[in-house]
Amino acid sequence: MATTLTDTTAAVDLDTKRAEIVAQAEAAGLRLVRFLYCDNDGIIRGKSAGIGNLKERLETGIGLTVAMQAFTMLDHLASVDGMGPVGEIRLVPDPTTFAIAPYAPHTGTVLVDMQTLDGQPYAADGRGFLKRMIARAADEHDLALIAAFEPEWSLAVKNGELFSPIDDSGCFTSTGMNMAAAVIDEIIAALESQGMTVEQYYAELGWGQQELSIRHAPALEAADHHILYRETVRGVALKHGRYASFAPKPWADQAGNGCHLHFSGWNPDQSVNRFYEADGEYNLSPLARQFMAGILEHLPALVALTCASVNSYRRLQPQMWASAYRAWGPDNREGALRVASPFKGHEAESTNVELKSSDSSANPYIALGGVMAAGLDGIERGLKLPPPVTVDPFNLSDKERQAIGIDRLPQSLKEAIANLKRDDVLLRALGERLATSYIAVKELDIDAFAAADEAFEFRQHIYKY
Ligand code: GLU
Ligand code: MG
Repeated sequence: MATTLTDTTAAVDLDTKRAEIVAQAEAAGLRLVRFLYCDNDGIIRGKSAGIGNLKERLETGIGLTVAMQAFTMLDHLASVDGMGPVGEIRLVPDPTTFAIAPYAPHTGTVLVDMQTLDGQPYAADGRGFLKRMIARAADEHDLALIAAFEPEWSLAVKNGELFSPIDDSGCFTSTGMNMAAAVIDEIIAALESQGMTVEQYYAELGWGQQELSIRHAPALEAADHHILYRETVRGVALKHGRYASFAPKPWADQAGNGCHLHFSGWNPDQSVNRFYEADGEYNLSPLARQFMAGILEHLPALVALTCASVNSYRRLQPQMWASAYRAWGPDNREGALRVASPFKGHEAESTNVELKSSDSSANPYIALGGVMAAGLDGIERGLKLPPPVTVDPFNLSDKERQAIGIDRLPQSLKEAIANLKRDDVLLRALGERLATSYIAVKELDIDAFAAADEAFEFRQHIYKY
């Protein structure tokens, strides 16, 4: 009985929520609502519903060819069984994600789940994968992950085929902030109007590079926010005649754009940070250490999900503060996992871990789902964290690095994908459909960029991400 009651209540809630969206859309004079998803190649795509039939479309979803999860960033179709011209899925909105898009006239957005025609979760959906990992963490470990994507991006102008940074200002400089002030101001207003809270902003090291972070949230919401964030930043920049690019390495001689992934593990009602222990080393609990050990264990394959483009591996170079080594340390910006120093007096809430080997060419659902799968494996196997690294790993000799087990991370997407194909834990977590289509898409990208010149790679990544 209880289940029936919950189901009925949930259905009524959903219906109410949909009616509210229609009312809001009408009141705001919207003409279209974009049903958005992020594909296997990290590209945000969607289809829009008109206002007249919005209520129905919110319920039934919009149809999408099954081929789309085999599409690459170059719009090439990878060869995947069952993902060709025949067959259809549905993009079904999650009504809690509705927002009015301040960067496109008379437009709303809603994020969707991919469903089969009979209403089941579609096995190749990245958002569905993250939801599965969230449920697994809750059901099997009483664990709720709180996360924040911390994106860096570049503001550029386009001349012909060429993208150039808007300025050559320096790290954290007020000149850099002034050069971008009008765009940043509008971006912040747009983020806030969609329910995101800005934490910090500054001009980053690279020319035209910006870092604007938003508040952490429960895992699914954090990934949803990152999609809305990317949409907003790029949309507002375009209104100003600028291109905002999240490409991991837009220019060979400039700092890369990371999207460091912060996370901590809480109890189910999110009142206790289970990653925190007052007298643990760097305030880390044994649970946090196991979770981190799981990430380090799987990192050579996990980066195929978190550093997900061909261009990503230009960024993962030593001494770029981007992380090139499989190491962890307290506030060590050259290690893949940085334990962020907690704020004095707020240790219990602010203890969190940052994965630096992560960028915005990833599908955030797949990246975070992968991090969770790796971390949960660490907990389930009781993996041990190696000793912390408190120096720049690059300055150690090969022998010293070997002695403490610090490997170089993969140096190409090809290497990372080959590792992923051997990582049964991640493959099992992704599930056969998602893993197969994901790998096929990446392998087609690898071949396409290998056959083209560097300029093509830079241009495509700047423009597409
Ligand atoms: N831009 C660096 C990266 O690629 C990060 C610099 C920093 O914020 O520490 O990850
Ligand atoms: Mg930064």
